Amino acid sequence: MTGTRVLVLNSGSSSLKYQLLDMRDSSRLAAGLVERIGEQTSRLKHTPLAAGGDAREADGPIADHDAALKAVAQELARDGLGLDSPDLAAIGHRVVHGGMFFTEPTVIDDAVIAEIERLIPVAPLHNPANLTGIRTARALRPDLPQVAVFDTAFHTTMPESAARYAIDPRIADRHRIRRYGFHGTSHAYVSRATAELLGKAPEDVNVIVLHLGNGASASAVRGGRCVDTSMGLTPLEGLVMGTRSGDMDPAVIFHLARVGGMSMDEIDTLLNKRSGLFGLCGDNDMREIRRRIDEGDEAAALAFDIYVHRLKKYIGAYYAVLGTVDAVAFTAGVGENAAPVREAAVAGLEGLGLAVDPGRNAVRGDRPRIVSPDAARVAVAVVPTDEELEIATQTYALVGKNT
Ligand code: AMP
Repeated sequence: MTGTRVLVLNSGSSSLKYQLLDMRDSSRLAAGLVERIGEQTSRLKHTPLAAGGDAREADGPIADHDAALKAVAQELARDGLGLDSPDLAAIGHRVVHGGMFFTEPTVIDDAVIAEIERLIPVAPLHNPANLTGIRTARALRPDLPQVAVFDTAFHTTMPESAARYAIDPRIADRHRIRRYGFHGTSHAYVSRATAELLGKAPEDVNVIVLHLGNGASASAVRGGRCVDTSMGLTPLEGLVMGTRSGDMDPAVIFHLARVGGMSMDEIDTLLNKRSGLFGLCGDNDMREIRRRIDEGDEAAALAFDIYVHRLKKYIGAYYAVLGTVDAVAFTAGVGENAAPVREAAVAGLEGLGLAVDPGRNAVRGDRPRIVSPDAARVAVAVVPTDEELEIATQTYALVGKNT
């Protein structure tokens, strides 16, 4: 392997996010996003980080992912970072669902593509989009190693007691129903960075990771290995999210169908896209919810309380799963930025050794930091996640090993 650059692609159904990193120092050379692919109003936003220039935006129809990646390649070439460069070592792809099969990052070949395809029934929204990105990138640089990094991989270490639902295993196995968990790249990165923050090896610490973004999930990580996580067969289970309900009595679905007369697709949309914070108060952005609370808005206050109550239940549950806890780490958009969420989530948990120091908690920053008092038994940490860096690191390590 001669190159030191890795292109990370995160391909959604109508979007393509990318970052180009130099793995000698993990620096970011360029980053960007193509939105609304397939529409008349597509937009490409490209930030030439190495060149230090302003972000460039281009509007106009981009028909498909192939055209989107070609447009990205052109922008990179303008900065002297073309995808035909020998400096490019590999392309790393975020793939949402790797099922039980993919426990590690994997060099992509036809068989790997076929397996990701086979998982489409359990990830109907995400895997087809991820595959489109993979096919497009392979067509552009067929000679280059391409690596799939799976959102589910970190969670494949869960014991059966945590991963299985209490249903007939023959039915579960036939339909591949189990807890897979998601955001694994983030949980892996943050649990490791938290150990580092504590000055310990990942093997020596137990961490509860709270990834609170628009999607949200918790995980219990014992000695660097995931032992439980809150998302399940799909990302719908667990915490209250921006637009997803999280945990609910499954009978709500029968009730909505039988009594409410809703179709399965309508219920799916309701629970995934129109529930959570948005469903409760009409806003899914925590900044807006806090602003409304400050103005005395009751619906926003109740949405916040429901969100925090669920979070607290998961902290308690994973405390019990782990037995001893060294740190609770908050990450992603809400976890990194919303001090009131962190404060409320651990309020009253002094008996478990959990507390935040109000002064430390209020300080903003983009470095990992501890926000609990020095005397606290359990560290409460804010650890910014970096999924692109984790994907690039795993991709580069794998390609380096294979060459
Ligand atoms: P993510 O999915 O990690 O990008 O997180 C996006 C979410 O983070 C947004 O929907 C907001 O709710 C939340 N967020 C971002 N910035 C802030 C902030 N400064 N304060 C509170 N919440 C924020």
